[in-house]
Amino acid sequence: MNNFNAQKPGMISLLKRLVEIESPSHDKAAVDRVGALVAEECRRLGAQVEIHPQAGTGDHVLARFPKPRPLSQGKRGKSGILLLSHMDTVFPLGTLEKMPFCEKGDKIFGPGVLDMKGGIIIALTTLAALRETGSLPPRPISALFTSDEEIGSCTSRALIEGLAKGSALVLVLESGLPNGAVKTWRKGVGDFTVRVKGRAAHAGGDHEKGRNAIEELAHQVLVIQKLTDYEKGTTLNVGMIRGGTATNVVPAEAMAEVDLRVMQPSEAERILARLHALKPVLEGTSIEVTGELNRPPMPFDERMKATFERAKEIAVKRGISLQAGGSGGASDANFVAPLGIPVLDGLGAIGEDYHSEHEYILTDSLPERALLLAALLCEW
Ligand SMILES: [Zn+2]
Repeated sequence: MNNFNAQKPGMISLLKRLVEIESPSHDKAAVDRVGALVAEECRRLGAQVEIHPQAGTGDHVLARFPKPRPLSQGKRGKSGILLLSHMDTVFPLGTLEKMPFCEKGDKIFGPGVLDMKGGIIIALTTLAALRETGSLPPRPISALFTSDEEIGSCTSRALIEGLAKGSALVLVLESGLPNGAVKTWRKGVGDFTVRVKGRAAHAGGDHEKGRNAIEELAHQVLVIQKLTDYEKGTTLNVGMIRGGTATNVVPAEAMAEVDLRVMQPSEAERILARLHALKPVLEGTSIEVTGELNRPPMPFDERMKATFERAKEIAVKRGISLQAGGSGGASDANFVAPLGIPVLDGLGAIGEDYHSEHEYILTDSLPERALLLAALLCEW
């Protein structure tokens, strides 16, 4: 297969159908409508489809593609390749009215075109083409379409990890970088809440009896921000603070919400230890820290280097020069990397401005990425 240009119009029309079914993570019925379309497409491609029902979020859809008869002794018994995509978006219902699916010049705009309905189309189209031409590789191929990636993958994490463990390679169809690079590292992400307790008192009559929780929190905010180490790729962001009840009351409570990003597992340990060891500066106040690392980091380590180099060699044979990049944002690839399974992310569409009203993809990236995915599936 030399290119997917003939498939381009079909890709665009299927993408339009998918984008016009809005699917915010918190709306189960909405995400299930996308799930129904994805399941139908997979069944049409001869896949065995398993629905993993969820109560609070959309159901996850797992499609197992039939393995052609092994071509040779050597290729028999190869473990499988897992494709990962998510069906939910960050856009609430009704977004389409002000941000409709539209093709303009060499771009396509619409909620979720880049993150990551374009990636779903690339996966489905590639598998369809390989099946039609009888070139599906003689190994199990499965595709998992999840419903809750944008809200932390709480209900899909175990499923992702379970499937990844038996795989030779996991390919994630999140968007590629604007220059076409795939994502070979991603930071890990943690969310923490720092609660400070003081003592309430009348701000005029009993000021000295009070213990000001906001003042204490102010000390802690400075300590937390200073844990940032740009050289190591570690950042802490106190993104929200709340506290107090009225200006004439010494505040008894205050809290801060903190976003943590780390490049290295060791940094996660260091910061967690520091956060849990925070000590109050003002006598009579106390601090409680809750939270955890939701997604471990996916570092550009030796394994990732080897995975990327192999992918690069495969790509170059199809005339594609593959570049390596990364992102401070996390994805489901972050769950796969610590398992020691080769994983490559950012194989989806190419574009910019995801999670914003300007989100777009480059239309030609649909067939281009399908070609890359086909190469990886066939030659890994
Ligand atoms: Zn995404």
